[in-house]
Amino acid sequence: MDADAIIIGAGACGLMCAVQAGYVGKKVILLEKGDKPGAKILISGGGRCNYTNLYATDEQFISANKHFCKSAFTQWTVDDTISFFETYGIQGKEKTLGQLFPEGKNAKDIVEVFTSICTDFEQQIICGANVEEIEQTEGAFTVQYIRSGKSRFIKAPKLVIATGGLPIPKMGATDFALRFARKHGLNIVETAPALVPLTITGKDEKWYAQLSGNSLFCRLSNDRISFEENILFTHWGLSGPAILQISSYWRRGEQINIDLLPGNNISDLIDAERQYNGKSLLSAVFNRFYSKKFTDAMAKFLPVEKPVASLTKPELELIHQTIHLFKVKPAGDKGYDKAEVMRGGIDTNELSSKTLECKRIPGLFFGGECIDVTGWLGGYNFQWAWANGFVIAQQL
Ligand SMILES: Cc1cc2nc3c(=O)[nH]c(=O)nc-3n(C[C@H](O)[C@H](O)[C@H](O)COP(=O)(O)OP(=O)(O)OC[C@H]3O[C@@H](n4cnc5c(N)ncnc54)[C@H](O)[C@@H]3O)c2cc1C
Repeated sequence: MDADAIIIGAGACGLMCAVQAGYVGKKVILLEKGDKPGAKILISGGGRCNYTNLYATDEQFISANKHFCKSAFTQWTVDDTISFFETYGIQGKEKTLGQLFPEGKNAKDIVEVFTSICTDFEQQIICGANVEEIEQTEGAFTVQYIRSGKSRFIKAPKLVIATGGLPIPKMGATDFALRFARKHGLNIVETAPALVPLTITGKDEKWYAQLSGNSLFCRLSNDRISFEENILFTHWGLSGPAILQISSYWRRGEQINIDLLPGNNISDLIDAERQYNGKSLLSAVFNRFYSKKFTDAMAKFLPVEKPVASLTKPELELIHQTIHLFKVKPAGDKGYDKAEVMRGGIDTNELSSKTLECKRIPGLFFGGECIDVTGWLGGYNFQWAWANGFVIAQQL
C-alpha cells in the first residue's frame, strides 16, 4: 500500500480531508489534475474567499434529500471552520448577510493554510496528476493517473473522490465523479448549472440590455423560495446575487416574480404624493427609488410622465402589479462557464450521511460538490466542502 488513503482532487474538500487525516495520524496521497492545489478556492469570492457563513444551517442547501447534510454539519460546524482558520492566523470578517472573509488576507492565504499543514504532516500532494481509472481489488483501490505523459499506479485501502462539479471547465473541472458513479451503477440526480446568471432573449432582450450596468435591490420569488438582494442588468439578461440565488431553484420555461420595491407599497406612496402635490409626475416618485435610466425604461410599461393626480384606477392597478409583481421569463442560463456551482450530482441515497461512504462500494467516499447537495451563495458551499473533508477523514 502507498498510503492509508488516496484522495482524488486537491480542492476545498480534498485539502481539508488531507489535513484532518493528518490530525488522526493517517497518511494520504492527494492527486490533483491541475498544476496547483485549491484552484477554485483561489478564485472564490473575487480572490478573497468567502470561506463560510455565520448563519449556515441545513436550510440553505438544495438536495433531493434535504436531511442528508445535517449529520456532516453536526460533526463539523461553522464554529469549527472559524476556529480552524483562526488557529492558523486567519480571522474572519463579516461582509454582509453572515458572509465571512479572511480579514486583511485573501484566498491565497486560505490555500496556504492547507498546503503548510500538509507539509507538516508529510501528506503528499501530487499536482498535474490526472486520474483516469480506478480498479478495485481485494481490500484496496488501485488508482491510475497520468503525469508528465506517463501512466502511474498507486494503491490504498481507502479512496476519496473529491473532484468537484462541472463549473468552469477551462479551470479543469471534470465529470470524473459522475463518470465513475455511472460506470458503477450509482444513481445520479440530474445536474445543471447553479448560482448562475440568467439570459433574456427575444422581444425583451433590448429592454434589459439598455439597463446594462444598473443594479436594483429586489425581492425575487417563485413558488419554492424568495430572496431579497440586488439584481444586476446586463447586455444578455440578469445577474447579481439575487439572480444567482434564485437560479438554483429555477427550471427552464419558468417565470420569476420580481418585487421592484420590496418593503414599500407603491400605491401608498402614490396616494401620499397625490395629497402632497398632485401635479408631481409618476417619474418623480420613481426617481426617489430608482436610477433615472430605470425610471425612463419603465415608460415602456407605465405612464411615468403623467401627473399622479390624473392616474386612473386601471393605471394605478397596473403600476402596483408592475412594480410589485414584475414577471420575467429567462430564456436560459449562462452555463457552466459562468456558474459557481453544480446542482445535482451523486444521489445521496448512495451514501451514508454519517460517513459519506458509498453504500455499494465500502472504503470509497465521495465529498464536496460532486454530491447532490448544493449551497446558496455566501460561503455555504465551502462550509459543505470543509465539513465533508472532516467527516471523511475520521473514517480513513
Ligand atoms: C468563480 C467561483 C467563485 C466561488 N466562490 C465561492 C465562495 O466565495 N464561497 C463558497 O462557499 N463557494 C464558492 N464557490 C464554490 C466553491 O468553489 C465550490 O463549491 C468548492 O470549491 C467545491 O469544493 P470541492 O472540493 O468539492 O471541489 P473543487 O474545489 O472544485 O476541487 C476539485 C478538484 O478536483 C480536481 N480534479 C477533477 N477531476 C480530477 C481528476 N480526474 N484527477 C485529479 N484531479 C481532478 C480539480 O482540478 C479540482 O482541483 C465558487 C465557485 C466559483 C466557480
